[in-house]
Amino acid sequence: MPIRILPPEVASQIAAGEVVERPASVVKELIENALDAAARHIVIRVEEAGQRLIEVSDDGCGIPPDEVPLAVERHATSKITQAEDLFRISTLGFRGEALASIASVSRLTLTSRTEQATAGVRLQVEGGRAGALQPVGAPVGTTVRVENLFYNVPARLKFLKSQATERRLIDTLVTRYALAFPEVRFSLIQDGRPALQTSGDGDRRAVLAALYGVEIARQMLEVLAEDDEVQVTGFISPLSLSRSNRREMSFFVNRRPVQDAALSTAVVQAYHTLLMVGRFPITLLFLEMPPQLVDVNVHPTKAEVRFRHPDRLFASLQRAVRRALLAHTPVPGVELPSWEAGQAQNGKQRAGPEWRTISGEWRLARGEWREEPRQPEAASPSEPASAPSATPLLRLVGQVALTYLVAEGPDGLYLIDQHAAHERVLFERLMAQRAAHAGQRLPSQALLQPVSVNLPPANARLLEEQLPFLESLGFQVEAFGPATFLVRALPAMLTGMQPAAALQVVVEDFEEDETPLQAETEARLIARICKRAAVKAGQVLSPQEQRTLLDDLQACASPRTCPHGRPTMIHLSVDLLERQFGRKGAR
Ligand code: ADP
Ligand code: MG
Repeated sequence: MPIRILPPEVASQIAAGEVVERPASVVKELIENALDAAARHIVIRVEEAGQRLIEVSDDGCGIPPDEVPLAVERHATSKITQAEDLFRISTLGFRGEALASIASVSRLTLTSRTEQATAGVRLQVEGGRAGALQPVGAPVGTTVRVENLFYNVPARLKFLKSQATERRLIDTLVTRYALAFPEVRFSLIQDGRPALQTSGDGDRRAVLAALYGVEIARQMLEVLAEDDEVQVTGFISPLSLSRSNRREMSFFVNRRPVQDAALSTAVVQAYHTLLMVGRFPITLLFLEMPPQLVDVNVHPTKAEVRFRHPDRLFASLQRAVRRALLAHTPVPGVELPSWEAGQAQNGKQRAGPEWRTISGEWRLARGEWREEPRQPEAASPSEPASAPSATPLLRLVGQVALTYLVAEGPDGLYLIDQHAAHERVLFERLMAQRAAHAGQRLPSQALLQPVSVNLPPANARLLEEQLPFLESLGFQVEAFGPATFLVRALPAMLTGMQPAAALQVVVEDFEEDETPLQAETEARLIARICKRAAVKAGQVLSPQEQRTLLDDLQACASPRTCPHGRPTMIHLSVDLLERQFGRKGAR
């Protein structure tokens, strides 16, 4: 085929594909335009996850009537005029592509009025073809209405995720901007229901509270640091508050939400050794730097940026986070038994680590290990496991490092991870209960007082989708406002668990990309709940609790792994021990 210039509709659809990947990209571009127009209040209306309607109204400066037709032309912008401007961009937009791109794949209606104009004007563009400019009555500001997105690009429609997922992406996006611009009032309405509402009073912690609830907002640590290149402000979670993925680590560069793996790595490293492996902080970090030090023109959606001095920047960020952490966190110290310490205490009883044995309990008192007679226990010989078990009968020896149980079996020594073991026990119990009560609700335990829990809109939506299932597990949770839930009861099995933690479990870790079979989701969810409810490493277990756990584990169908597949126990055979001690094999 000969080389030909593409017809303009084709060329513009190709270009649009880079900017407008999904409904959330439309929302992003329209919000950025409103913010660039200095809006104080932005209302975002979304229907059917944006496929039917996305409408963004602002009270910003508006567009002069004669410029409205230009606004929807490609490469038409009021924000830069020359190439050099690209290196000192202080607005969110600058490419002059968004409105044209959106208009080429939807039916777009732009209504705008400036303060000077006596009336507003309206322009409709369908599949890239603009109609005539019409005078209309309108308040000062701009409203962009986008209907039937991708109606003329069926291939794009096919690649959209479920409506639930697309809605969630919009929630997350608006949430980010609401946090970055606390002085702007944001209202997000999805399918006629308020999903997010901020006050616009400029208080970031108030926005945090609206999203995560007062309790979490109060706990977040403030970051405030500055050097010659960058100012870092914002919030990071304390060590006691973490997530199982990086999804709640948000970064903003000159108030633009950016995705940058290096930034989040820098922060994770600042937490290094303070957080458990596989746990991540919640962060909202705002980096302000002179526009010349960051290139925002590297990606069509402007979600990625390039820094002039990345290494220096990461070091500054890390220092800022580390300092905030250390300022608020007492360094976790393990009190080692020392003779001097014992002397200095001069006879005062000190709490210390404990080592429990089958015959008695060793306690560290006054810097000395002492054996104390064991507390008498109700002698309740555990019933022999009814099902044949894959593990031999184990005899409890004790607890080590408040993390492992030590047990003896006929063929050697077993080290059992108390957390993994308990996870397995809870998991099988819940699954069995569900099988036994097929279709019925599991027993639940009412809370003395209902507890209200706030979640960020995207998480709230996830939770809402799982409510019927949660109910079947014995939760009693009801929606109570756009992102607030009232917990009235927990599954009887989870009595004592923090309601907020229980709900967090449901929304954590959820794979946004898949819509798995409900049965799979349920098993995963149950596994996660068990993980949260299980005893932790570092928790003291009474000898009775240790024994019960050991017995329960042996009664499990798959006692050797936790529901996530990690081993619950390590076996050191007599044979191995003999080799290690040189009793055997080494001749
Ligand atoms: P860019 O934002 O990169 O300039 P857009 O296609 O998003 O490109 O918008 C084109 C132009 O239309 C903007 O430069 C701006 O002048 C005008 N415009 C778009 N949306 C608004 C709005 N909400 N309020 C005021 N002006 C707007
Ligand atoms: Mg724009």
